[in-house]
Amino acid sequence: MLDRDGVITSWNKGAQNIKGYDEDEVIGKNFSIFYLPEDIKKDIPSKNLEIAIKTGSYSVTAKRLKKDGSLFWGYMVITALYDNEGKLRGFAKITQDITKQKTLQDDLDNLHIEFENKTREKLKIALKENIDYKRAIDQSAIVAITDQKGIITHVNDNFCSISKYSRAELIGQDHRMLNSGYHDKAFIKDLWKTIAGGKIWRGEFRNRAKDGSFYWVDATIIPFVNAQGKPYQYIAIRSDITARKVYEEKMNALNADLTRQKKELEIYNEQLEQFAYVASHDLQEPLRMITGFLNQLELKYNNVLDDKGRKFIGFAVDGAKRMKSIILDLLYYYRIGKADEDLEMVDLTELLNGVLSLFQHEKGAKIKYTNLPVITTHRSQIRQVFHNLIGNAIKYRRAEIPLLLNISFNENDTHYQFAIKDNGIGISEEYFDKIFIIFQRLHSSAEYSGTGMGLAITKKIVENLGGTIWLESTIGKGTTFYFTLAKDFKK
Ligand code: ADP
Repeated sequence: MLDRDGVITSWNKGAQNIKGYDEDEVIGKNFSIFYLPEDIKKDIPSKNLEIAIKTGSYSVTAKRLKKDGSLFWGYMVITALYDNEGKLRGFAKITQDITKQKTLQDDLDNLHIEFENKTREKLKIALKENIDYKRAIDQSAIVAITDQKGIITHVNDNFCSISKYSRAELIGQDHRMLNSGYHDKAFIKDLWKTIAGGKIWRGEFRNRAKDGSFYWVDATIIPFVNAQGKPYQYIAIRSDITARKVYEEKMNALNADLTRQKKELEIYNEQLEQFAYVASHDLQEPLRMITGFLNQLELKYNNVLDDKGRKFIGFAVDGAKRMKSIILDLLYYYRIGKADEDLEMVDLTELLNGVLSLFQHEKGAKIKYTNLPVITTHRSQIRQVFHNLIGNAIKYRRAEIPLLLNISFNENDTHYQFAIKDNGIGISEEYFDKIFIIFQRLHSSAEYSGTGMGLAITKKIVENLGGTIWLESTIGKGTTFYFTLAKDFKK
């Protein structure tokens, strides 16, 4: 309780607890001792009393001093008290320590401010990111937004430049103004069904520009759906793929052309083979006649002919023999892969023994082959391959040194591989392809006999058995021919 001047007249236990003064320390002192110096400077204590007098009661939340000099937050109510005659008697002052509540409130306020600031900052970043995203998309893609009916509401610069329409010509128009008529109804229907159902549509589209030219785009159309899940607008992001499409269309035309040409070539080849086969076959008869009459000439007119005549007949007989070999080789070549020959288990060691026995008369030749497998194949064809390659190694040996021939074998999951290595005259690399072509020889028949068919036949057989043939060679050192055979060969 205070008197009219604000001097403390009574002091209870609660007041003592809050402010720390004992009763005898405060009674008789002015209540301004609880105010901060700056409040006192502004005459706040007496002003408070004035308000209480004016309004009957004054309440305030403010900082006040304790006895030990520390501060507390107080909620104070000062009530003016009057006697029976209505004269001011003094004041009742009630103080509540609300430091705890006040601190909580302050913390809460601070948190609130902090939260607001953080949210604002985050929003700012998100907004900037959105702007950057939009800029990136605008730079790289063709963008348009339509409403749910397909009416254009937004286009970016790329859209204008590819469609050759101005923005003003596009906004408010139906997006179908760009249709090129290329896509069928089902395609368009599927597109609308997808996006109207709230799903993203992706695909390639041909559009017509303002000047009537066409352009191709790779499009992604994304529906924006409202709270009810209904699309209210569509954003279409496209990229220009005209160049690729044009390339593909060319390529397709070219492919079709190539396929046709290949077919023609196959037919042509088949006809040629047929012709060669028939011609070779039919040539045998007149050839037999020529050979027959030449023999007659030799037998019956030997004593009539002079040396020159006999020599001429000798040349003619040689020529006829060569022609016969050529015809037989040709007939053989065209029959590869055509005649039905059974597959059988072939022991290659045994087969090679047989082939080599044909070359027994070759003196001073060292031929090595070990660990050859037993394989399922066409016996006569594989014999022909070894016969030709070994025959060549013997034919094209170097006269001055003994022939060394090494036949080795290897395999992987899919193929057998053979290598036939000689120490002969070798082949220059520029002829590596040429020697496999029919009639292509590197020597005249005077130097080395032969038809130029051996390697062509070998290659055709190997390829017919699902393999390949190639070689390594050094002139004057020797040659290695490699060939493979497919393991799962079935024909
Ligand atoms: P031909 O032996 O009847 O001429 P081929 O088709 O068998 O026909 O061989 C083509 C050519 O390849 C031969 O003329 C020869 O020049 C060359 N050739 C083939 N095998 C060998 C080899 N082992 N060493 C050197 N040259 C070879």
